[in-house]
Amino acid sequence: MTLSVTDHPVSVIGGAVTDAQTAAIRVENDHAARNYSPLPVVIAHGEGAWLTDIDGRRYLDCLAAYSAVNFGHSNPTLVATAKKQLDALTLTSRAFHNDQLGPFVTALAEYAGKDMVLPMNTGAEAVESAIKLARAWGYRVKGVAADQANIIVMGGNFHGRTVTIVSFSDDEDARADFGPFTPGFRTVAYGDAEALAAAIDENTVAVLVEPIQGEAGILIPPASYLPAVRELCTENNVLLIADEIQSGLGRTGTRFACDLVGVTADLYLLGKALGGGIVPVSAVVGNRDILGVLQPGQHGSTFGGNPLAAAVGAATIGLLIDGCLTDRARMLGDRLADRLHALRGRGVLEVRCVGLWAGIDIDPGLASGRTVCEMLMERGVLAKDTHGSTIRLAPPIVIEQGDLDWAVDQLEEVLAQLSA
Ligand SMILES: *Cc1c(COP(=O)(O)O)cnc(C)c1O
Repeated sequence: MTLSVTDHPVSVIGGAVTDAQTAAIRVENDHAARNYSPLPVVIAHGEGAWLTDIDGRRYLDCLAAYSAVNFGHSNPTLVATAKKQLDALTLTSRAFHNDQLGPFVTALAEYAGKDMVLPMNTGAEAVESAIKLARAWGYRVKGVAADQANIIVMGGNFHGRTVTIVSFSDDEDARADFGPFTPGFRTVAYGDAEALAAAIDENTVAVLVEPIQGEAGILIPPASYLPAVRELCTENNVLLIADEIQSGLGRTGTRFACDLVGVTADLYLLGKALGGGIVPVSAVVGNRDILGVLQPGQHGSTFGGNPLAAAVGAATIGLLIDGCLTDRARMLGDRLADRLHALRGRGVLEVRCVGLWAGIDIDPGLASGRTVCEMLMERGVLAKDTHGSTIRLAPPIVIEQGDLDWAVDQLEEVLAQLSA
């Protein structure tokens, strides 16, 4: 599908940090806030699953910008759509209509099996929007007394970085010194339906859940969990909000991770891949009985639903609609799972795979996740650690099978090197 590892001499794949990279990193660090600690590689070009650094060395992208680049870098269909739209119209604000928003929300609603879409930009905005929607729905439809609504969230969640969202995070780094926090949230253990049942009361308006917890390390709950959550929500007239910002749109080998267990959410939160790796596009997708509570002036965004984002968003749905990419994620994922499971006991404690998405727990006695990622980088594989010793693999779904195998070979060799 795209360039593969065999198309290039091995000498131009990966490598140690060069003077040019060090200089470029220094320029960035001089004035960019240090809210990330990137691997020491400076990327200048991308095509398919492959990235090229400023020294012309190639790397296989096994992170895909946290699944925002599911369809590959410089995806020809998406880039052509964006270029065409750049020449036509990019922003009107929602003070006027634009000719791209209608087709986008129609395509997305149909794809999700819902009838309304609230377009926003970033994932965090989709989450914030859903919280506002659930509260307004609670007061206006469910009949909860003013300011009494509560929303139940899960331990270990990741939903973004705004003050309200970190208010219900249990990650100390994400919260420390950012208070005072937004009230109205209750945390229960992820995967524990009984704890959820005990936490729901008459003022509960929503349960906000990642069907698979991505940032937590690709944590997959028991198969009975989400169906039980669905049942509890239905019984108690509570909205089930599925944050599919990282798990949705093909990554898990299905449309949504909820589909893996046959669960339909009331609201789907989408982002990341929805923008095709080109522009930030997010959305809350649901039915009119919920999204219809919003009246003009009650919520908005200057850039949300802009024609460039809408054109790209419609094109991403166009790429997904025939199910081929989703099938590809599942097929490649099966292969990846087989290869990774074989690494258990060889420096790997545990492996969790779903679709083309894997969390690999490295034995902390062997090395940190960061060290493994740095060694992988030198071998031309870019991946990201999370929570100290877990490595996440989420390559673009367009990756060639041979390249995926090669990436696992590199991991295998890094582990062998560390064990020696
Ligand atoms: C990335 C992510 C978000 C936040 O998206 P941003 O675009 O970074 O604001 C929210 N929820 C989940 C599950 C995510 O993975």
